[in-house]
Amino acid sequence: MRLSFTPTRPIPYGRQHITDADVQAVISTLHSDFLTQGPQVAEFERRFAQYIGVEYAVAVSNGTAALHLCALALGVQPGQRVITTPITFAASANCVRYCGGEVHFADIDPETALIDLQAVRSLLESHPKGYFHGLIPVDFAGLPVNLQAARQLADEFGLWLIEDACHAPGGFFTDDQGREQRCGNGQLAELAIFSFHPVKHIATGEGGMITTNRRDLYEQLLLLRTHGITRDPGRLQHPDEGGWYYEMQELGYNYRMPDMLCALGISQLERADEGLARRRQLARQYDAAFAQTPGVTPLAGAAGHAYHLYVIQVQDRRGLYDFLRGKQIFAQVHYIPVHTMPYYQQLGWQPGDFPAAEAYYARCLSLPMFPSLTDEEQQYVIDCVREFVGQ
Ligand SMILES: *Cc1c(COP(=O)(O)O)cnc(C)c1O
Repeated sequence: MRLSFTPTRPIPYGRQHITDADVQAVISTLHSDFLTQGPQVAEFERRFAQYIGVEYAVAVSNGTAALHLCALALGVQPGQRVITTPITFAASANCVRYCGGEVHFADIDPETALIDLQAVRSLLESHPKGYFHGLIPVDFAGLPVNLQAARQLADEFGLWLIEDACHAPGGFFTDDQGREQRCGNGQLAELAIFSFHPVKHIATGEGGMITTNRRDLYEQLLLLRTHGITRDPGRLQHPDEGGWYYEMQELGYNYRMPDMLCALGISQLERADEGLARRRQLARQYDAAFAQTPGVTPLAGAAGHAYHLYVIQVQDRRGLYDFLRGKQIFAQVHYIPVHTMPYYQQLGWQPGDFPAAEAYYARCLSLPMFPSLTDEEQQYVIDCVREFVGQ
């Protein structure tokens, strides 16, 4: 066992990578006339849309705000029922609750930890048509959901789709025509959302993006992002009132992303492909190491995997987590199943409801996965995991 390396600071499961160019981009915006709604916002939206391969992009304050606006734009209201996965960050479900809707869950596929579309089908078939209104699949860990299959299901049962692509900018799956469908490209889901939280691929501190090919939803999102206010002469009821004039036409929010953070986003986006390539390389190295490590089972990979997370499953997860912390490796658990959260238990869900999700949770651990992780650090992580399971 080669444990010659000792980390000088803890190795987290995810870490942002900020360069001098990123810092400069923020500083120049600070010196400009605009701190909030300036030219960087539209520029970031334009470039992000181009990167994803989608018509429209709307920058918002964070991924949770993105989900909330999507639920509003799709008209979620009290009494409506929406399905998502228990293995996700709580925000994927909470957006439905913000609008008074009911969250339902379908269990995961144990191979991938993604929502099991067969389980979704069974759930849909066990209720009358029209009972459910939407489905929020999550590209968990960066593995893209087969949205073509999800779309077929959605069309059959009259659902809309919001793709929670927070883990997967740059990810893709291959559809049955052999085409690469990039996460968030708007071809199959009405809306997709991204987050720029520091552990995500593109880090701006707080920040998020909604993508769509639907012009009507795009215009609705713009309105809802800024208090429901418009200044567009073509949309005003009284366009001749004067230059100061605007109208609040709906109850909206202040969910804007500031100019200086969009400048950081633009700068980060320039390195997105580089970061993604490094994540995939790290994943290959972990895969190769753990293929020869009995007792360590990584989640399934795929060509279009974007590797926000690298998840392994082990028998003694608690033991490994504590052992790694003692070695300055801050692994993390993604996720505690949402339906077992006290809030969702108050709404009637219980442990035992989704056995595959709970079995996954009992064994999962996310190892360090971020572009600036060095090969030496990764080898140290691998050695420590092996040391533990070899005990
Ligand atoms: C990070 C994340 C969110 C929320 O994004 P924030 O920007 O932190 O609000 C939503 N869904 C998933 C799957 C996430 O990982």
